[in-house]
Amino acid sequence: MNPHARFECRRLYPLIFFDFGVQTVLNKSIMHDFIYRGADLYAEDVPLEELGREYGTPLYVYSKRTLVRHIRAYGDAFGGAQSHGDQPPTGGIVSFALKANSNGAILRLLASEGAGADIVSGGELFRALRAGIPASKIVYAGVGKTADEIAYALKKNILMFNVESDEELEKINRVAGMTGRKAPVALRVNPDVDPLTHPYISTGMKKYKFGMPMEDALEFYMKARRMENIEVVGIHEHIGSQITQVAPFRDALEKVLALMERLRGSGIKLRYLDLGGGLGIRYRRGEGEKPPLPAALAKSLLPLVKGRGLTVIVEPGRSVVGNAGVLLTRCLYRKKTSRKRFVIVDAGMNDLIRPSLYGAYHEIIPVRKSRRAALKVDVVGPICESGDFLATDRRMPAVMPGELLCVLGAGAYGFSMSSNYNSRPHPAEVMVDGGEHRLIRKRGTYRDLVRGEL
Ligand SMILES: *Cc1c(COP(=O)(O)O)cnc(C)c1O
Repeated sequence: MNPHARFECRRLYPLIFFDFGVQTVLNKSIMHDFIYRGADLYAEDVPLEELGREYGTPLYVYSKRTLVRHIRAYGDAFGGAQSHGDQPPTGGIVSFALKANSNGAILRLLASEGAGADIVSGGELFRALRAGIPASKIVYAGVGKTADEIAYALKKNILMFNVESDEELEKINRVAGMTGRKAPVALRVNPDVDPLTHPYISTGMKKYKFGMPMEDALEFYMKARRMENIEVVGIHEHIGSQITQVAPFRDALEKVLALMERLRGSGIKLRYLDLGGGLGIRYRRGEGEKPPLPAALAKSLLPLVKGRGLTVIVEPGRSVVGNAGVLLTRCLYRKKTSRKRFVIVDAGMNDLIRPSLYGAYHEIIPVRKSRRAALKVDVVGPICESGDFLATDRRMPAVMPGELLCVLGAGAYGFSMSSNYNSRPHPAEVMVDGGEHRLIRKRGTYRDLVRGEL
């Protein structure tokens, strides 16, 4: 199967009956926080038109209500909800993956809900601590940790390093020796299961750079155990992202548990079982994408783990913030060639790169509904690249210059992957809470573009 096929939009959906965000399905009724009231699209109780006017575009808008609901869904499912503050958690730990969205206001909100952090760099550690996430709930993955980053994480007493190679383990041991601390480590294993997602966001297969082969795990743990400055505490897996079925998670867990049995036979007992993140969200309505809820994931996985004396860690990113954020953009121009119609908007691939990078599909809907007939268009940005598009061959009601469009499902890997390419300042970010809204990141300025240049 061509994995890209799943991401191409060839099907046409009417815009009425619009629903999205499977994570927002509660009690079998669909709840969304970006919905039409009459002809106008709202974020919670605030019209998006008003936000566009007040803050300008392109603009990321987040719903606090959605964020809270999603992190609580994980807390309830995996037991992280009880673990408030800096106390060692009694249930599982929900460590939000910062790379999905690392805005401080969002992190503070998640921290207040008891979330920990899954980090992949020193910069993310800095952000997590600054937002009040306790070090005791921070896990650190990534194949390229530097000595400085390792020293920083040791100094802050993070929960554990999720180690991805032999040489990294040796470096952690060395750095820990120099700082006079013992480094808590888990081995990130690669369970070699196909998560049935896009290859760029698939990690748990042998051909990818992540984790260590299962067959090398025993040797790794034996070696780690002998190291003076290493304390072996856990095991980690993370098989990919935007996974819309439970089966790959379960397959991976079964393999990891079998490995843990073998490790136990060799006297290696672990305390933490880190299941990674990767639960998908619904980017398009209709059949096909029906990712399970956190509760369904927990229901399938936790019984396998029960009674083993393990603390479970999960590392969701996308499924917490993805459908809690949208990107507002304004139509600048229309343009027609003999082959195509283009809608040129003021948000580009530097603001939201997922369509360009993965061929990812995002619903794009008008902020004010019109009765105009639908046209097939490419929605493109101002960047000087042919790959700069938000949607291709998309049927949508004709858009006029000056009108606002809303790109749904943009809360995860949206702002966090944005750049200043083409010397475009970063978009602003706004948090909506009921009828209130506030800026959580100022729009970048031209001055910001040259800051640090000598
Ligand atoms: C990216 C990542 C996550 C989060 O993945 P999502 O698909 O956003 O849930 C979790 N753990 C690790 C190690 C990651 O690299």
